[in-house]
Amino acid sequence: MAYNLDNIFAKILRGEAPAFKVYEDDYSLAFMDVMPQVEGHTLVIPKDPAENLHDVDPIILGHTMATVQRVAAAVKQAFVAPGIMIAQLNGAPAGQTVFHLHFHILPRADGLDIGMHARDMADFALLETHAQRVRAALA
Ligand code: AMP
Repeated sequence: MAYNLDNIFAKILRGEAPAFKVYEDDYSLAFMDVMPQVEGHTLVIPKDPAENLHDVDPIILGHTMATVQRVAAAVKQAFVAPGIMIAQLNGAPAGQTVFHLHFHILPRADGLDIGMHARDMADFALLETHAQRVRAALA
């Protein structure tokens, strides 16, 4: 499938859709998931157009993973998470719903279940406070 420029993450990258941004560099962008499966659910995307892991340039992937590592550490600190889960889905049969490569960063703790994937929209004011916590941990 060809990369679709109308996907929501492409719109966020072009500034055509809002996002609760926490980190940005030349290669990647990190922002809060608006339908979080757990408090602190954060996404990291490359700025280059790539639908999934199979078609991303490996150099871009390396830069993106460096951001995943950096933001994951900040999310872990900001949400005092004993565990961090990284998830990445390729293709609709795998559950991918937005067709621009992205990595999910999910704080995990014993006894803390994660919610349904991409189901319930979070309160935007709360998401902004979560974004502020991640930004503070990155500062
Ligand atoms: P996936 O199903 O792996 O493609 O994940 C897509 C993720 O993007 C889901 O967790 C959605 O909750 C999330 N999502 C969808 N639209 C937005 C948006 N506008 N801003 C932030 N996250 C979004």
